[in-house]
Amino acid sequence: MSSYTNLIDGYKEFKNQYQGQENAIWRNWAKDTQNPKVMIIACSDSRVNPVIITQSGLGDIFTVNNVANLVPPYKKCGNTHHSTSAAIEFAVTQLKVEHIIIMGHSGCGGIRALMAGHGESTPEPDDHYSFIRPWMKIVDEAAEFTPEEKATQDIDTLATVCERRASLISLNNLVGFPWVKEAILAGMLEVHAWHFDIGSGTLLEYNPEKDKFEALG
Ligand SMILES: [Zn+2]
Repeated sequence: MSSYTNLIDGYKEFKNQYQGQENAIWRNWAKDTQNPKVMIIACSDSRVNPVIITQSGLGDIFTVNNVANLVPPYKKCGNTHHSTSAAIEFAVTQLKVEHIIIMGHSGCGGIRALMAGHGESTPEPDDHYSFIRPWMKIVDEAAEFTPEEKATQDIDTLATVCERRASLISLNNLVGFPWVKEAILAGMLEVHAWHFDIGSGTLLEYNPEKDKFEALG
């Protein structure tokens, strides 16, 4: 059975459940609106779907998925596209979400690409232009390690540090958006950094007072 067939079979099951009488009130409400209290910015990685990890349902989480769950710095327009920034603006100014979570994860391919290309200049556009490297430049300093650190720690340990640092850079960029800052100061919004360990299934949250990630629950 192809993976495509699996999708269609899954959809048929979903449709049966979704169109059941017990969901009629929700469907009637949801066809015109949404009211999520939470936004999660997660990696595109297939193993770290935040709706599944948190056992949430439709309508619960306003979600952005991008390579390595990055938030770019606040910049007025320019000639680039701003998908993630637009989603943050919508979530904060229109949906008025109460929490924004940046969720990183172990074994992140984007972070590995950043570490592999760290220190190299970004190539000029050509026929084989890479979009990953300039995108990952947003968190370039996350891959900064001393020669001693590189010599004494294995690549997986360094990658974990890099993944968590990158989420904290994104968190810092997030609070640089004026409406995010205003909502936090007004007590309407809290921001968080999470890290999901795929091997163990452990979810950790950054504790700013202790400056470290701690297991949740
Ligand atoms: Zn990733």
